[in-house]
Amino acid sequence: MRFDTRLLHAAQPADPLTGAVNAPIYLSSTFRQSAPNRNQGYVYGRSGNPTRHVLEAALAAAESGSAGLAFSSGLGALTTLLEQFPTGSRIVAVDDLYGGTWRLFEHHRRQFGVRIDYVDMTDPARVAAALAAGPTAMVYLETPTNPLLRIVDLRAVARLAHRAGAVVVVDNTFASPANQRPIELGADLVLHSTTKYLGGHSDIIGGALVLRDAHDAERYAWLQNAVGAVPSPFDCFLVLRGLHTLGVRMRAHEQSARAVAEVLEGHRKVRASYYPGRPSHPQHALARRQMDGFGGIVTFEVAGGRRAAFRFLRGLEVFTLAESLGGVESLVDHPASMTHASVPRREREAHGVTDGLVRLSCGIEDPADLADDVRHALGGA
Ligand SMILES: *Cc1c(COP(=O)(O)O)cnc(C)c1O
Repeated sequence: MRFDTRLLHAAQPADPLTGAVNAPIYLSSTFRQSAPNRNQGYVYGRSGNPTRHVLEAALAAAESGSAGLAFSSGLGALTTLLEQFPTGSRIVAVDDLYGGTWRLFEHHRRQFGVRIDYVDMTDPARVAAALAAGPTAMVYLETPTNPLLRIVDLRAVARLAHRAGAVVVVDNTFASPANQRPIELGADLVLHSTTKYLGGHSDIIGGALVLRDAHDAERYAWLQNAVGAVPSPFDCFLVLRGLHTLGVRMRAHEQSARAVAEVLEGHRKVRASYYPGRPSHPQHALARRQMDGFGGIVTFEVAGGRRAAFRFLRGLEVFTLAESLGGVESLVDHPASMTHASVPRREREAHGVTDGLVRLSCGIEDPADLADDVRHALGGA
């Protein structure tokens, strides 16, 4: 089955009891046992729930993995993943990370003695140098990165990491499996904030891990149950519902993003704009090689710093000022004071997250209305 068909049909048979075409929401925290430890595959809602299991299998199919695990948030998935790594383990991470991921990594450094080196992964040679500096348990990356939409060569980095004996984990939240499937390119694990494109409607907080190897599934399922950051059956239903329309939504998001990126490029009030789908993006060729589409996020720097950026934000009428991204409605973020406020200014600015930077999550409204909104707000910036 091709991707869009898989989203609806892979691992989602009609309900065997009733023929319902959608997975029922099993609101049950516990399951009857006919004798002690004799059950029908379900014991307690943290260790397993039938609605969650349908979602988990569908996530695995979408990401071309062999097993999926659902969590109560993206950071819940990350917390569970980090339980793998004992004191003294070394992580090599991309230097342009989601702010909450950075915060949790730093907490693990201080609290549990995990060693973390942040590397600009746009150049695989730097990854090779970091790996040569000492034994590495995990290489952790996002591509496109947040918020600057830099692209990491997944095949090249996975090859280097595997040669060094490290596990490769890719946060695929920004691209979504509609546009990029890291496991097909060599990653061992994919992490998601399903809060974003997979859920797609800004109505739940959720996370996921998808594993390449089936023999890791038992260990991770054990941790999922032990840590306990599991989603409710109702939230699982909503993510599954979002997953069904992921393909059409991502195509609509991209149309919007292209219209907005076109307004931004070369505009006299814009110092720089970033969209991997534009030929002007320095890594456009690499993005084309490893991605099937470029997503709905466009980032740019307003000329005039923070004051001009805030004037731009006030001038918008269709875009809503709010954290998060990937929903059907368009959102705008000022990373320096919102999503990336937990990163110290020096570090932030060194990575290009300046006070004039604005991140747009282009929704599925009419692209012409989004383009008009941005053009109009830039006029007042
Ligand atoms: C939102 C986000 C997360 C964290 O996910 P939550 O669901 O908010 O816990 C992690 N990575 C990326 C890229 C994100 O955008």
